[in-house]
Amino acid sequence: GGAGVPRINEAFLNLKASYLFAEVKKRTQAYRAAHPDARLIDLGIGDVTLPLPPVVVDALQAATREQARAETLRGYGPYVGYEFLRAAIAEHDFGSRGVTLAPDEIFVSDGGKSDAANIQELFAPDAVVALMDPAYPVYADANVIAGRSGPADASGRYPGFVYLPCTAENDFQPALPDRPVDLIYLCYPNNPTGAVMTRAMLRRWVDYAREHEAVIVYDAAYEAYIRDPDVPRSIYEIEGARAVAIESRSFSKSAGFTGLRMAYTVVPREAQGRTAAGAATSLNQLWLRRTSTKSNGPPYIVQRAAAAVYTSEGQKQVRGLVDSYMDNARTLREGLERAGLTVYGGRNAPYIWIRTPAGTSSWDFFDRLLAEAQIVGVPGSGFGPSGEGYFRVTAFGSHADSVEAVQRIATRLRG
Ligand code: PLP
Repeated sequence: GGAGVPRINEAFLNLKASYLFAEVKKRTQAYRAAHPDARLIDLGIGDVTLPLPPVVVDALQAATREQARAETLRGYGPYVGYEFLRAAIAEHDFGSRGVTLAPDEIFVSDGGKSDAANIQELFAPDAVVALMDPAYPVYADANVIAGRSGPADASGRYPGFVYLPCTAENDFQPALPDRPVDLIYLCYPNNPTGAVMTRAMLRRWVDYAREHEAVIVYDAAYEAYIRDPDVPRSIYEIEGARAVAIESRSFSKSAGFTGLRMAYTVVPREAQGRTAAGAATSLNQLWLRRTSTKSNGPPYIVQRAAAAVYTSEGQKQVRGLVDSYMDNARTLREGLERAGLTVYGGRNAPYIWIRTPAGTSSWDFFDRLLAEAQIVGVPGSGFGPSGEGYFRVTAFGSHADSVEAVQRIATRLRG
């Protein structure tokens, strides 16, 4: 028996049996073990494949040399990130778009994943959470662990969450919640559907949040992939958003930092929550307190590497990376369409969202693509119940693999 050992947080038991990407990996490894000679093309988890931009490598090396001398050693840094990086972010990611942010509204972290998982700590245990369906799994899982979900029902939905279905039928644009919510997770450009949100749509959400006293957590991890000049790059381009929106970005997919780790979250000074007694409270101050308590900030050398991205040479090199992946996106989108599949996304996002053939479930399509074309993608149903009948492939593979993938699908996946 368990007597004499501590009780656990039983909310963990409400998580689905396996993290989506773990199941993808498991099935892929099983296939590999059974077919050791097969050459798999991995368009699944979505890790980057191109090397770091040279300015980033140079900055890493220079910062490392600083750490090698007592006179220039940097030990513990500011909990929230160095001022040189926060100032560069404010100027280049926002100032250039007409959005004024102060460095103390920007919190540097080790990843968009941690930020997406941690931000819910600012809100009450019984806060009501609205989630896009399908969505990046971290938003839901972090709130499950925090005890806001209860157990999932038979369809895989958590009765405690408000789901905002995003399907081809509504152009992957969620409808406003039909009951009161406190926290709304929006992600644009979207993982997994590849959709973007127009200015008018985003304004509806900001207006809704202001009217209904909700906070929007806006995940802009894929902002660098926006091509359409009319699509907003930051939620703060929308009037009134500073009071109701928290925005996160990541260096992972723009500058290839999936291994280095670097991201940031913006919590504007105007953003507020309230106590049970109704006292207004600054979310910026809460997040500062939380970050100071739980973090010593990302490594100095990585922050120097991130700052190098904002030099004019760095911007050029990052644009080159993004252009390469977007070239893959076009190759995949056009090739899959030619092969007769219905596809979405891939125009302002590095993800292609495939409609599985009629009668084929997401996991069936995964198994088929693996067996018939030796291609690994991600079943849409893994991102939420409304992802059933869809399948995600990423543009982060090599160009040669993207070309070969569409050839394999066109020639082998018939009937
Ligand atoms: N947000 C979204 C929507 C993502 O897809 C990802 C990564 O896949 C992240 C955040 C987190 O990225 P990272 O933790 O590498 O910064």
